Amino acid sequence: MKLAFFGSEGKVGQALVPVLQRAGHDVRGIEIGEQPDVAGLDAAVDFTTPGAAPGNVRAALDQGVSCVVGTTGWDPRPLHDYASERGLRLFVAPNFSLGAVLMMRFAAQAAQYFPRAEIVELHGEAKKDAPSGTARATAELIGGDPVIHSVRLPGLVAHQEVIFGGEGQLLTIRHDTTARESFADGVLLALEKLDSLPPGLTIGLDRLL
Ligand code: NAP
Repeated sequence: MKLAFFGSEGKVGQALVPVLQRAGHDVRGIEIGEQPDVAGLDAAVDFTTPGAAPGNVRAALDQGVSCVVGTTGWDPRPLHDYASERGLRLFVAPNFSLGAVLMMRFAAQAAQYFPRAEIVELHGEAKKDAPSGTARATAELIGGDPVIHSVRLPGLVAHQEVIFGGEGQLLTIRHDTTARESFADGVLLALEKLDSLPPGLTIGLDRLL
């Protein structure tokens, strides 16, 4: 596909653009201050900032281009009608790591049989917010208001364990993100499925599995 990548020089952009190119996509990087000129491309990917993403998406939709967005911290729901009126897709996922999404799905399954669980989320010390969005989303999925433990230490990237306790047994479901390339498989999947989605907004990688 011919793609625009908003935020190609960011931390995620620098990791993902080479992976997308190796997968055969033709990628045009667009950085802050550059014209969002995407007319004629097949899709636009955005990993920028909550302030920039809505304008980038609107500009792409105005030019007839569907979008895959990983930028967090903004509400894409007001753009649902804007995309659907144009017959275009807006796919947004707060977590593009396939492994993390599967970890949450498996935890939700296990919770049907193991009612007691606690979550341990571990991240590098630069992450200021706690608990992580993924831990909060997992807690909501499994229900029962599980305790969440947050660890912030040098040497960690992004990790999560969901520990289920039962009579005489423990079940631990764990996912480890060791590099930002982990988000590539989810972005590739979203691009592959983009045209088969209904026009308008779709949220969450889970919807593609
Ligand atoms: P980052 O390193 O700060 O990168 C953001 C990049 O976007 C920077 O290069 C920035 O340029 C650029 N940018 C800002 N405004 C722009 C505009 N109007 N047009 C084009 N480019 C613009 O951040 P990051 O770590 O790559 O993360 C980017 C976003 O993805 C964040 O919201 C983060 O939370 C999210 N994220 C999502 C997932 C997921 O799985 N969904 C995973 C990881 C991260 P300047 O530096 O010049 O401002």
